[in-house]
Amino acid sequence: KLNDAKFCVATSSGTSALLTSLGALGVGPGDEVIVPPYTFMATVTVVLLHYAMPVFVDSDRETFLMDPRKLEQAITDRTAAIIPVHIGGAVADMDSILAIAKKRNVRVIGDACQAHLAQWRNRSAGSWGTSACYSFQLSKNLCSGEGGAILTNDEDMADKCHAFHNCCRRRNRSSGKTTYQGGRNTNVRMTEFQGALLLSQMEGVEERARIRSENAQYLTSMLREIPGIIPAKMYEGCTRNAYHIYMFRYQPEHFANLPRHKFIRALSAEGIPCSGGYGPLNKVDFIRDALHSRPYLRVYGKEAIEKWAERNECPENDKLCSEAVWFMQNMFLGPRSDMDEIAAAIRKIQAHAPALAAKA
Ligand SMILES: *Cc1c(COP(=O)(O)O)cnc(C)c1O
Repeated sequence: KLNDAKFCVATSSGTSALLTSLGALGVGPGDEVIVPPYTFMATVTVVLLHYAMPVFVDSDRETFLMDPRKLEQAITDRTAAIIPVHIGGAVADMDSILAIAKKRNVRVIGDACQAHLAQWRNRSAGSWGTSACYSFQLSKNLCSGEGGAILTNDEDMADKCHAFHNCCRRRNRSSGKTTYQGGRNTNVRMTEFQGALLLSQMEGVEERARIRSENAQYLTSMLREIPGIIPAKMYEGCTRNAYHIYMFRYQPEHFANLPRHKFIRALSAEGIPCSGGYGPLNKVDFIRDALHSRPYLRVYGKEAIEKWAERNECPENDKLCSEAVWFMQNMFLGPRSDMDEIAAAIRKIQAHAPALAAKA
């Protein structure tokens, strides 16, 4: 209800929610699934688990999200699904993505694992597309240690997801009886124990989202004024950001060419926890190894596998991965004065950048 969705299938994790959504669509060997490169690895591991081919669409460096201008050219007659990821809790450009998906008759499965309560055009990010997947893993804005959920407004999709995640058992809504429904399936049900934890966490979820949002917006107003610090922009349709990760780009030329890793070290030394975030996912070994496995070579052929890396280059994302700096959501639950301390620490580093850059 909170996310404007008619149906919810509770799962063991965000990963299993994504696996189930793709399974419900019948994604399998020979299919292609479109993903962004700036995301947690699970967005791609689920594609590999179905022996489908991940196809990367480059990032928009301004927003850190899938660049919708590069989406259509990635669609082929093999494309079975597009997985836009609402990274950091900022919503992907759903107007453009859904319009292209509709035109080309491809399903959209949202990865909303970081986007609890985020909204696109004043409606939950989870209410757009065929389904949206959430995670309740311990780092997330709403958590039960591990856990996940699929939200959908499509009853047929809800039934298929339910069957896939429940060893193929389909529940008849009126009689309550279960029947077997054909197809590949698994057991990735959420436990009662996780459910109980989640229900207790639901209390205050709106309040915590509001505090994060107010603090993050205040921090943005200050960081915008610091040369060389570029907070991630939101698309105009993103009417609510979940701020799971606060993301900005760091430009060393405004800090006496102090490299990013030294900036991160100095900021950490000031007592501000931060990191450089994701590396380029399209270049990781586990994907290359999976593609060179026997089943992949058999299904797709050596030539296609060898051309894969070149077809999946994401130059904008490579740059983004070398510029990004992150703060995590829990830093935004404190008082507003915490934000002043973050901005002050960055200004202090900027003032001392020549000395810091000269040090080993
Ligand atoms: C956390 C996360 C997942 C996976 O969720 P788990 O519950 O950890 O399996 C998938 N995608 C994104 C973008 C995530 O942040």
